Amino acid sequence: RRVSGAEERRLLELLAYGLVALGAGAALLLRFVPMPYGRYSSPRFGCPLPARPAWALQELPSLLVPLALAACGAAAGRWPNRVLLGGFALHYLHRALVFPFLIRQGKPTPFFTFLLALLFCVYNGYLQGRSLSNYAEYPSGWLKGPCFIAGFIGWLVGMAINIHSDHILRNLRKPGETGYKIPRGGMFEYVSGANFFGEILEWFGFALACCTIESLAFALCTLFILGSRAKQHHQWYLEKFEDYPKDRKILIPFVY
Ligand code: NDP
Repeated sequence: RRVSGAEERRLLELLAYGLVALGAGAALLLRFVPMPYGRYSSPRFGCPLPARPAWALQELPSLLVPLALAACGAAAGRWPNRVLLGGFALHYLHRALVFPFLIRQGKPTPFFTFLLALLFCVYNGYLQGRSLSNYAEYPSGWLKGPCFIAGFIGWLVGMAINIHSDHILRNLRKPGETGYKIPRGGMFEYVSGANFFGEILEWFGFALACCTIESLAFALCTLFILGSRAKQHHQWYLEKFEDYPKDRKILIPFVY
């Protein structure tokens, strides 16, 4: 029996709620065990994989699944859907095919973390891809409306902050170095998790531009997961560096 449109819409809605629950559950768990990759990488979570191919492979489904769905989606030909799918794909084009190859002396990724990230990217790639290529409907003039414009600016500024902050982190190490230093400049003057702040802003902007329950679920899930990671990094810096700037916040400039 073929799944009807109404049934698949319901499935997407359930998957969106599932994503928020997953993010909230992960945030709870991450209070006790930091997400095991990067500085918290540990062989207890499976055999270590080299950082570059692990990042590229785990993130690739978030690029390929939506592109495949867009190729056969009924709504993918409409301009708002096209632009929004393009924005999502552009982020993952960078994350899967550019970011991994810029990493300098990144710590290995344990197999378990790699697998979780891979499954997350398949799940979310299907959720965002299917929603935007088949179901999201926009009135004419959406691309000139306040929701899209404000959301698009948030998405763009967030992405710029994310890429710039990752660039600052990368350049803290000289070739061959593997240690950690206090990040300075850009949004790091305000928060310890500048790259995470950028990514969160990016996906909330995207959610505003899309106005779908699926995109909002992804933004909330990102907030839960990266908010926890930012908090752990902040505490880690405070313990490791006596001269760590005391007025630097965790994630949101001047607020938190
Ligand atoms: P981190 O900030 O933990 O690390 C980023 C890179 O910079 C790593 O290569 C790390 O090396 C290096 N680095 C970090 N801090 C320092 C320092 N103080 N001194 C020297 N080098 C440093 O970010 P993540 O690896 O967690 O995330 C990378 C990107 O992926 C980010 O842009 C993030 O937003 C995104 N992401 C998105 C998620 C989502 O849910 N949408 C989930 C997870 C990540 P090392 O590996 O050796 O620690």
